[in-house]
Amino acid sequence: MHNSPFTVTTLGTGAALPARGRYPTAQLVNVHDTFYLIDCGEGTQERLRVAGVNFQRIGHIFISHLHGDHYLGLMGLISSMHLMGRRTELHVHGPPELKEIIDLQLRASGTWLRYPMHVHATAPENGREIMSDPHVTVSLLALKHRVPCTGFLFREARGPRRLRVERLGDVPQFKRAAVKAGEDLVFPDGKRIPNTELTLDPVPARSYAYCSDTAYEPSLVAFLKGVDLLYHEATFTTAMADKAKETLHSTAAQAARIAAEAGVGRLLLGHFSSRYKSADVLLSEAVQIFPNCILSYEGGVFPIESRP
Ligand SMILES: [Zn+2]
Repeated sequence: MHNSPFTVTTLGTGAALPARGRYPTAQLVNVHDTFYLIDCGEGTQERLRVAGVNFQRIGHIFISHLHGDHYLGLMGLISSMHLMGRRTELHVHGPPELKEIIDLQLRASGTWLRYPMHVHATAPENGREIMSDPHVTVSLLALKHRVPCTGFLFREARGPRRLRVERLGDVPQFKRAAVKAGEDLVFPDGKRIPNTELTLDPVPARSYAYCSDTAYEPSLVAFLKGVDLLYHEATFTTAMADKAKETLHSTAAQAARIAAEAGVGRLLLGHFSSRYKSADVLLSEAVQIFPNCILSYEGGVFPIESRP
């Protein structure tokens, strides 16, 4: 049982052009009430307001690639954070050109940010860890797209061992932290109780992977093994497979194949082409290959649950 939250809110699920009711890509990840933003399409700050999120609490922003539908909202968000008096530092992770793009816009508008901002360059490289804090570690996934593009893998930090309720009385208060850290309980007279008699394994750490935008890329499977929730782009139906190939996007069936091969817990589809008024047609193709599959939608909140 997990007591602390680990959720993803899909703020925008559209591809390229906004369709009625769909917004360009952005996701808010909440790990233990610490907020991270993935991609920042146009209008993301409004979508955050609609979702009731205080965006000053976002400490890290991860940009997958420099197609406009994934980052044109970034400058607006950075500016609003400034205008609203932010003082805490902000980290932005993205392709190398991103720093130049941000700096030019700040310079041209004569803006000196009130808060420290650090821009970190990414490159499509599987497994490279780019951020780690007490809640989560984030590493890169090498996606296959028309411009350099990275996915992001969020792994929850492993919690402490859990004291067995029936043995609580045996562990003095001042020894509890050490026992939860895995130490045996040793008394002054030398008597020893092994840790395994006193504790249970930690709650399994949960994981979330974000893969957008990308062509069907089987080399990802090794890095997605056992992920609890996989978000994978599903821009087209199988009837449009040629178009998917040409634009380096995926069909819903290809997303499902990746999920099945990686043995993920659940698949969340998104980045729907504006030609589909309803994404149900994409879902029905995907579930034939990978049944535990759901559609993202604007403002949808999806908990990341570890499997039994
Ligand atoms: Zn793209």
